Formats: sequence, C-alpha cells, structure tokens
Amino acid sequence: MTTSTFNLLVTPSATILSDAQRAERMSKLTFGRTFTDHMVVIPYRDGTWQQGEVKAYGPLSLDPSASSLHYGQAIFEGFKAFAQPDGGVKTFRPEANGERFNRSAKRLAMPEIPVELFLKAADELICLDRAWVPQNIGESLYLRPLMIATDPYLGVRPSNEYLFVLFASPAGAYFPKGVKPVTVWISEDYVRAAPGGTGEAKCAGNYAASLVAQAQAQEKGCDQVVWLDAVHREYIEEMGGMNLFFVYQEGGKTVIVTPELTGTLLPGITRRSLLELAKDLGFEAQERKLTVQQWRDDIAAGRMTEVFACGTAAVITPVGEVKANGFEMRINNGENGPVTMALREALLSIQHGSAPDTHGWMHTVC
Ligand SMILES: *Cc1c(COP(=O)(O)O)cnc(C)c1O
Repeated sequence: MTTSTFNLLVTPSATILSDAQRAERMSKLTFGRTFTDHMVVIPYRDGTWQQGEVKAYGPLSLDPSASSLHYGQAIFEGFKAFAQPDGGVKTFRPEANGERFNRSAKRLAMPEIPVELFLKAADELICLDRAWVPQNIGESLYLRPLMIATDPYLGVRPSNEYLFVLFASPAGAYFPKGVKPVTVWISEDYVRAAPGGTGEAKCAGNYAASLVAQAQAQEKGCDQVVWLDAVHREYIEEMGGMNLFFVYQEGGKTVIVTPELTGTLLPGITRRSLLELAKDLGFEAQERKLTVQQWRDDIAAGRMTEVFACGTAAVITPVGEVKANGFEMRINNGENGPVTMALREALLSIQHGSAPDTHGWMHTVC
C-alpha cells in the first residue's frame, strides 16, 4: 500500500446538527452516549486495506453471517483529543494506541493497519468534527477505533474481510461532582485472563466475559471488580478495565508500584505514562508482582498509604476500600490521597496543555 492511498474520501453528512442542537447535546455530557456528525470506515479485502471514507455517523450494514457476530474477531481502542489553550486540538499518545491496536489484531488473527493510516483517520475525523471537542478542563473528545470481521461465512477460520471503523464521542468530566474513591471487590469466582489467552489484547470478548464478575462486585456493594491471576489466584492484576497502582511510603521515599506485565494484563498507556511521570514528581516507580496477602499486610502496617486505578476514560480513580470473601479494609481512611491527586493533576495538565509536554506525548491534530 502506498502513502497516497491513505487519503480518505470525505462525504460530509447531509444532516449536520445546527450549532444550537450541538450546544444542547454538549451541555449535558456524560460518557459514551453522544456521537459526532461523522465517522471513518475503511474496508479490508483481497489482502489489503481499501479506499477509506469519512461519512455521516450512522448504522453499519452487516450480513447476519458476518463472522465477528459469531466467533468474536472484534477489537477496539480508546484515546482522547483535548482542546488546547491556544485554540488547537491535540491527542494523547495516539501512536501508542495504533501500535497496541495492531498487537490486538495480531492476537486475534486479524490484519494490522498501518499506524499512519490509523492516525490519519483520527486526525481527519477530529478536524472535520472539531466543533464537538469540549472546551472545559476534564472534558475531551473520546475516539473509538474498532475492527470487526465481516466475512459472510460460518466456517471457523480467520475472516478474509474486515471493517475498520473510527468514531468520536464528546466526553464530560468523569467525576462531575469531584473525584471520589471507589470500593472494589476481589473476585475469587471469575478470572479475566489466563496465560496464553487474550488478556493482553483489547478484544471485545474480554469485556463480555467480565460482566458477570462486575455484576457480582455490585451485589457485594462495590463499584468495581479486582482481578487476580488465573493460576495462583493470589497475584493482583487489574481493576475492571483499568490498571492498578499501590503507593508506598518507605523511609521518606514515595514509591508507586504497579503489577508487572505478565502477558495476562492489558498494557495500559495511562499506566506506562504514570510510570514515567512519577519520576518527574520525585517518586520512585516499580513494576512487580503483588499478592492480596501483601496488600493486606502493607495496608495494616501503614507502609501502603494509597491505591488508585488508571485508564484513558477516568484517567485516575482513587480506591478507598477493598472487600473480599472474609475481609474488608479501608485505604487512606477512604479519602483521596495526595500522591494519587498529584499524579492525576500532572497528567491532566499535560493533556490540557497547561503544563509543558516534556515527554512529547501530545500529537497536534489541528
Ligand atoms: C483499555 C484497558 C486498560 C487501560 O488502558 P489505557 O491505555 O490506559 O486506557 C486497562 N485494562 C484493561 C482491561 C483495558 O481494556
């Protein structure tokens, strides 16, 4: 494929919302319910990506025998665009999402997409729909790329045809009433990912399989589920669809610890960014294994002072309480901790352009 074929055909929507209609929708933003005027679709067939299109956001037409509907060849990504103080728009580490999208594709026996095409699709969509980029701190335009298998064939084998789709959703502040710690339930009945499985891939099926565990956490009076490793059922892996961090105070030093990537954890881009950002704030950062027993002991001994989860959607969410069969513990008295909030502020400041982008994470869109 040559660079010129990365050009996307633009067919503006015939039903673009008026400024007043858009303003009305953007006045009450939540997460994931409002979509912009356009989307990008790029089909894959005959072993190559075909001419891509930017067109009106709307339903896709799929054959009922399309293999993704049956056998789950379906992957996605999530990243954000932020309004900048100078009136421009920038995305946060979109190449990292493009690269991870391709690692997910590989795991699901799907074709990779050139990262330049992935970036171009996002940039064109954001520019065309830039009036939908929210302006307030804490708000963003959430980008959702996905790929599904579209072969109309019931045989079990990798599809020959795929559809890449990218659409955008203006997202309000994740904590409109201020950041508030969540309560988590350690799941002993379910696992998210096993060695050799798809835990590292951002595939639709991982989420389908997590829903009953999340429902159980809610029955136990918790907001989110915490996953343990599938083999020993004692190492902490993740919280719902977010990575976890544990904050230690050791001999005057602040150390943030996150479970190491073993192949069953999703390698979060927020996680990776916080490991780097921690050093800027004078914290030490470590990736290592941590058991539930250590979690309990270190909280009890006062060595572990804060716990938080991180991911693109919520950025950083403090964890104020942990429950499991047989025990429950409060963390930092159930309040937001200073290290958690300092990291949150530092990351949001880079994303919104109020702090210098010293790591080169921001990608200029328009
Ligand atoms: C997407 C995701 C994350 C967070 O990744 P980010 O790149 O930081 O958004 C963590 N865990 C799971 C299971 C995920 O799907």
